[in-house]
Amino acid sequence: MKIIMLGAPGAGKGTQAKRIAAKYGIPHISTGDILRANVKGDTELGKKAKTFMDQGLLVPDELVIDMLMDRIGQDDCKNGYVLDGFPRTIPQAESLDAALAKAGEKMDMAIDVDVPDENIITRMGGRRACVNCGATYHVVFNPTKTEGICDACGEKLILRDDDKPETVQKRLNVYHEQTQPLIAYYSKAGILKSVDGTMEMDRVFDAIVRIIGE
Ligand code: AMP
Repeated sequence: MKIIMLGAPGAGKGTQAKRIAAKYGIPHISTGDILRANVKGDTELGKKAKTFMDQGLLVPDELVIDMLMDRIGQDDCKNGYVLDGFPRTIPQAESLDAALAKAGEKMDMAIDVDVPDENIITRMGGRRACVNCGATYHVVFNPTKTEGICDACGEKLILRDDDKPETVQKRLNVYHEQTQPLIAYYSKAGILKSVDGTMEMDRVFDAIVRIIGE
């Protein structure tokens, strides 16, 4: 099963993608996580990507597309995957479709986690991310057992530069301009599903499971 998660930054698609991955036994592929790992490792890709990421801008398509194609070509992706944060532009979606078509495959569904901008702005200020393993939490909606400490690995949590208020509005503008057109793209392809992302996290997941099937 090959699933794309769509939605604005902060809509909760990462959290839902991880739960989908766990329930259906497929890898969770977050281009944001892969890019952050490259920034942390100070790779060539990381150096190029960092300036865009820190400003809330998208990393250029050519860098992200190659990186994603490498990842979905790995062995653990044979039975499918859930993509979180990719595609984010029409050219990325077209490249993905073209690569899959070459292999005689296609995406099964694109799930849009729909949340209005007002809710996003309140949510993102409370987001915290682990410096070590990339796990994400929320001070109100998804708190850790010990404040400021990652439940998964015990490392410190931070407010990511790209979750800072001044960057959030910019990321939303980028989302509306460059990513939202994907909703029409996948609707036209007949694989778009939509869930109300303003509900409590467990209810959003229930709605997703109803869409995918038990
Ligand atoms: P995320 O964790 O998905 O919110 O991604 C964090 C940042 O990584 C974004 O604001 C972009 O700068 C960059 N990024 C992640 N995925 C993509 C993508 N598919 N295309 C371009 N930039 C991306």
